[in-house]
Amino acid sequence: MIYLDNSATTPVDPEVLEAMLPYLKEEFGNPSSRHYTLAVNAEKAVEKARSQVAALINAKPNEIIFTSGASESNNFIIKGVADYMKYYEEKGNHIITSTVEHKSVLQTCKFLNGEVFNNNPTKSVASRFIKKQAVKKIDRGFEVDFLPVNEYAQVNAELFEKTIKDNTILASFIYGNNEIGSLNDINLLSKISKEKNILFHTDATQVLGKIDIDVNTLPVDFMSFSAHKLYAPKGVGAAYIRQNGLTNYKLTSLIHGGQQESGYRAGTHGVHNIVGFGKACEIAKRDMNEYIKKIAQLEVESKKMILAKYPGTEFLGDPVNKIPGVIGMLIPGIVNEMFIKDLGDKVAISAGSACGISEPSYVIDELGYKNKTSSFIRLSISKNTVLSDILI
Ligand code: PMP
Repeated sequence: MIYLDNSATTPVDPEVLEAMLPYLKEEFGNPSSRHYTLAVNAEKAVEKARSQVAALINAKPNEIIFTSGASESNNFIIKGVADYMKYYEEKGNHIITSTVEHKSVLQTCKFLNGEVFNNNPTKSVASRFIKKQAVKKIDRGFEVDFLPVNEYAQVNAELFEKTIKDNTILASFIYGNNEIGSLNDINLLSKISKEKNILFHTDATQVLGKIDIDVNTLPVDFMSFSAHKLYAPKGVGAAYIRQNGLTNYKLTSLIHGGQQESGYRAGTHGVHNIVGFGKACEIAKRDMNEYIKKIAQLEVESKKMILAKYPGTEFLGDPVNKIPGVIGMLIPGIVNEMFIKDLGDKVAISAGSACGISEPSYVIDELGYKNKTSSFIRLSISKNTVLSDILI
């Protein structure tokens, strides 16, 4: 099987697996148990991983909170900031995001906006009951503006600035689009937020280990990450929370309970997963420059091959400011689900985000290609890909 769906998830790096194994075998202690060696070892392993994740973005270890993944980080940060800023600080209740965010941002913002009751009403066992609820909008105390984007799925800075109001507390924009790879100008958008004194979050899930992120020069307050996009296991991620005068933990916990993660995320640590995430970040810091060059080159070659085989293919997204290796395209005359199934024994590619499975891509829809969503294919290259893999 040739795997070209690395934006959905990546295989675990052998070095990562090796680092994890002791924590699935003899080093099984609970880091919160503290006083005996097995627990101390587990705690040390979690703290080492925290330093490794922090180092990749030039952050301080205490700015990293481990979560179960980027969906949780997005929920934690957005709901947590909204709650804290409205009810504790009494600063306001207005949030700004865009129409092409990952679902875990979009649905969270819709929830706060009073629109969402159940994540997937049509598939629920209690669907009739929930469908009835879903049409009802309630007042959860927040208003959200969903900004439209340009042809490359990028947020316009002027429009963003104009949308900020006196009661705006938070802006959240995706760093790199998960379907077509375009990068938002997060540097500019976060600078605007700072000038206007509002908090800024970016979902950086698709860019960690693919572009340089340095929180000393990038004025973001919060970021979300997921390990499984970075050759590490599923079920672990992180929230970056800036620690300085302005931001200092201005958010409410999502998972209440024990005092793990400075009290911001209760629950026994998945030590083996956290260790894997840390190792993956260490590897990314070490090898990124080299493998990114290779991936970018493969992308150029792949596009040539695809165009030769499927004349008229339209590559979507910003051709320059993009995540290396993500190819979002419209292939004329195909029906993507059939196309993917036909290739399914040999090659793994996708029709968009794995989280939007069985629905046409709303990102492609938003870009004005409403009638063409069924010809959309995403192919995403990893550090393991070779040119002969591009078999579509
Ligand atoms: N944000 C983006 C941009 C993503 O691509 C994904 C993964 N599809 C997520 C958030 C959710 O990450 P996780 O699977 O770790 O919850």
